[in-house]
Amino acid sequence: MSVGIVGGGITGLATHHYLRESGVKSVVFEADDEPGGVVRSRKVEGRVLDFGPQRTRLTPSIRGLVESLELDDELREAADPPLYVYHHGKLRRVPQTPREAVTTDLLSWRGKVRVLLEPFTDPARDGETVEEFLTRTFGSEVARYYFGPLYGGIYGSHPGEMPVEHSLAKALDGAGIEGSVLTSVARKVLAGREAPPIVSFDDGLQRLPEALAEAHDESAELGTPVGEIRREESDFVLETSAGETAVDELVVTTPADVTADLLGDLSPDSAEALRELNYNPQVVVHLHSEADLTGAGYQVQYDEAFRTLGATWNASMLDRDGVYTCYLGGSRNPEMVEWSDDELASVATEEFEEITGASARALSVHRLRRGMPAYDRSWEARDRISTPEGVHLCTNYTARAGIPGRIREAKRTAEKLAKSRADAADAPSVVA
Ligand SMILES: Cc1cc2nc3c(=O)[nH]c(=O)nc-3n(C[C@H](O)[C@H](O)[C@H](O)COP(=O)(O)OP(=O)(O)OC[C@H]3O[C@@H](n4cnc5c(N)ncnc54)[C@H](O)[C@@H]3O)c2cc1C
Repeated sequence: MSVGIVGGGITGLATHHYLRESGVKSVVFEADDEPGGVVRSRKVEGRVLDFGPQRTRLTPSIRGLVESLELDDELREAADPPLYVYHHGKLRRVPQTPREAVTTDLLSWRGKVRVLLEPFTDPARDGETVEEFLTRTFGSEVARYYFGPLYGGIYGSHPGEMPVEHSLAKALDGAGIEGSVLTSVARKVLAGREAPPIVSFDDGLQRLPEALAEAHDESAELGTPVGEIRREESDFVLETSAGETAVDELVVTTPADVTADLLGDLSPDSAEALRELNYNPQVVVHLHSEADLTGAGYQVQYDEAFRTLGATWNASMLDRDGVYTCYLGGSRNPEMVEWSDDELASVATEEFEEITGASARALSVHRLRRGMPAYDRSWEARDRISTPEGVHLCTNYTARAGIPGRIREAKRTAEKLAKSRADAADAPSVVA
């Protein structure tokens, strides 16, 4: 069996790595000259900046990759730092322990007591949005000031636009939470279970896809976009500037619009559905500040009059010399992605100064026209996606978007392909 992988972001490269580890022949084509896709790190004025994800959890699979790629010495680990929500004129610490849940000033006493009704509420209803679900189960304060901004903030979407079935339900499922969230969290606390540590690398998160590409450089084709895919008898033929490559199986990891173009001839109905999936346009502005802030960062509560969605405190969390990362745009202000660098830098700087009280200056402005999957109503189109046999979609619209989710899906896809190769080898040959 030979496998062609389209896209050398973290998903494509991890799939390639796992396939080769299990002895399956594969080749990965990446359009860009460098690996990583959304995972991109740069040095500006000697400081490491990440333009996409800032950190990941060191799950067992990611630890396995770090060890096999010998990246242990480059790993930067952060203790689970406090997180804040900007609400009613100040940064308020998000409770992370039962004790903090009692003492937090993010919620009134009424809001705190209301949370206790959650175990007695019904599961998500058909068509319910994340905001409606959280309000019905935890009460409006938790929905608006706590879970809402934290959850919606990850994607740049408003929880009122996100149907539970396309978003939160999958996250809860992935976290092994069935039924009451509160009971499940309480069980984990009592069992003393801790989340894997937050990590990055000395040179930023792109080090991981870089190391994956380096480990398989003979079969990772960078700067080689796939222009067309067609079927020739039982093969898939990938057309690139370097020529044609025939493979038995195809793993497509590109964003939905690119996948739609590539699969247009093989699966026209799926291509049409893929084109409907919304991604949020996002702007990432890096700042330098001498602010004395300790924590992971903040999300801004939706009713506040700011265009900043949130900020990561790289300085404190990952010991990155005065670096702060601000996110703007998203479904709230999608037009911001068209603003000039100067306009974006000055909004991010002014709002950071107002929220934290510390002065700052901009280091860089980066735009992602199709940033995070929006997981809004457009994701209903996903039900109409069904690819032909031999074509496997493996990306942030087929499972969870975070890096641990991407690695998990890459591993699952590679295992499935390796197993079908083994099954085919075991099958008795038919003599006519
Ligand atoms: C702003 C932002 C912040 C994030 N923060 C976090 C975080 O803190 N923690 C976390 O865990 N996750 C985070 N995520 C999510 C995570 O980074 C992404 O979901 C993940 O990196 C997506 O990886 P991928 O390989 O599936 O897709 P991509 O990175 O999009 O990779 C697809 C690849 O396909 C290539 N390609 C496109 N067209 C072609 C073609 N024709 N031929 C060949 N190749 C092609 C692209 O160049 C790209 O490299 C963040 C995402 C964003 C956008």
